Formats: sequence, structure tokens, C-alpha cells
Amino acid sequence: MNIYSPIQEIRFKNYQNISVKRDDLIDPYISGNKWRKLKYVLEDASNQQKKHLVTFGGAYSNHLLATAAAAARFGFKSTGFVRGEQVENETLLLCKLFGMHLIFVSRESYQNKEALFTLHFKNDQNAYFIDEGGASLLATKGCAEIIAELPQTYTHLFCAAGTGTTAAGLLKGIQQYQPNTQLHVIPVLKGGDFIKDEIAKYHEDLTGLHLHTDYHFGGYAKTNTLLLEFMRNFIQETGLLLDPVYTAKMMYAIYDLQQHNYFKENDQILALHTGGLNGIWGMKEKISQITL
Ligand SMILES: *Cc1c(COP(=O)(O)O)cnc(C)c1O
Repeated sequence: MNIYSPIQEIRFKNYQNISVKRDDLIDPYISGNKWRKLKYVLEDASNQQKKHLVTFGGAYSNHLLATAAAAARFGFKSTGFVRGEQVENETLLLCKLFGMHLIFVSRESYQNKEALFTLHFKNDQNAYFIDEGGASLLATKGCAEIIAELPQTYTHLFCAAGTGTTAAGLLKGIQQYQPNTQLHVIPVLKGGDFIKDEIAKYHEDLTGLHLHTDYHFGGYAKTNTLLLEFMRNFIQETGLLLDPVYTAKMMYAIYDLQQHNYFKENDQILALHTGGLNGIWGMKEKISQITL
């Protein structure tokens, strides 16, 4: 698959020297960092002659959708274990349309993914296990390539984090190709300090890593009027869509740090748009409560 991920400068309020790497343009469904994370995982599955991708996610998981779309495109069957009671929504509808078989499991059994995989697929030689969010060492390898693609050096690179796998790959890439770049990671969950340990599982040297743990807005998939109105203003002034779960929190962090004079005048700032725009559907009630 050829990658189309240009870098675009944005104008928004007093943002200065901010560019966005448009990984959201890679594909509408195998989107952003989910493509980066799947790339070598899919290669590994083919090398092992596996024909059936099995993975895990919540009901609005960008990773489930990316896996369903990638499976269809590259000739795999796919199964997704979905956390919680049976529901229908836009993301799961698309997963099914791409041919993914969905299995809804209780929150308790979802905890043990290896057990679920063994229970359902121990006799299926074709089944290939992909962890929730695509988290794996191979995933970090795909994400490190983002840095190799950059046409210039940046002082600061920002990304949103859920599992920290993308951040781990970026840090690896930075240390390899752009050692003067500072990596700023915005955990979208509460208590985001754990991301440091997650990154260290894949990449021990944490030089150049900055975690900003105060931009979670209450936790994963939590939001408030401040964030949603910021997101709306950003979208309307730049024409660039953000999702409320990940990229809006990252952009808000950059905006807020800039308000507090965190950056120097000639700093070059790059924000990684990790895609995931289908996350908007998971928040549609909340978004429609603000003035649009
Ligand atoms: C999944 C996702 C992330 C989080 O990536 P991790 O590697 O789990 O930290 C960030 N942004 C978007 C848009 C995502 O869909």
C-alpha cells in the first residue's frame, strides 16, 4: 500500500509554526496510526501462512474497524471480540460490512484475551492473534517509520496516546533519525503516567520523552464543553477534522502549552494526526449539545 501522508501547516488563533502530519489521509478506515501499527503485523501473519485475523476492542474501536478493513483488503478473514453487551453502532456496522465476524463478550472475560483466543480458536491453525489496539513490538516498528518520512527536523513532535505503542515507535524513530526532536505524548486516559512503563516495554531509552498527563478531560472517551468547543473552533478555522477521543485532546494540549509560553519563538512543532475520525460517532450526542 502506498502511503499518502503529507505535512500541512495550519493557522489557528495564535498557533505559530505548527504543522500536521496527515496520517488521517492514509485511509478512511485503516486510519492513521492503526495502519502504521498493522503494517508489519499483517506481513507477519502472511509469512506465517495465517488466513484469519482475530482481535479485540470496544464498541467504537478504531482498531477493530482498521483490522476489519485491512483484512478485507489483504485477503484475510477477520473476527473481532467486542467488549460488553451486544450493541449496534456505525463502527460495528462498518466492521460487519467489511466482513468481520463479531463476538460480544462480558467485561470480565474480555480481561483475558489469550483465554478467549484459545477458547474459540485453539483448533484453527489459520487464526492469528492481534492484541487490543494492535499493541506489539511489530507495531512500534511501523510507527517508527513515520519519523523516517519527515522531510525536515522538528523541535517538538506531539501525539495522543491510548496504549502508548505509537509513542514507543515514534521515540524509537526519533532516537534513530532525529535525535534532537522532543517527543510530547498526551495520554487520553486518566493517570497517564503508566504510559511511560508501556513505552519502556518496547523501548528502554526514554530520552527526549515528555508526558503531559493533564489533558485527559476526565478520562478515556470523556469530554466536556471546553474540549468540544475547542474542537469545533479548530475544525471551523482550519478545515481539519479532529476526533474528540484522541486528536482534539492533543491539539488542545499544544494550544494550552502555547498559551503558557512553553515554546520558543523559532521552535518547529509537528502534530501527528493519528486519524480515528470514526470516533466522532461515539460522541455524537455530546457533540450535538454544543452550539454548532
Ligand atoms: C488508537 C488511537 C490512538 C492511540 O494509539 P496508541 O498506540 O494505543 O497509544 C491515538 N489516536 C487515534 C486517533 C487512535 O485511533
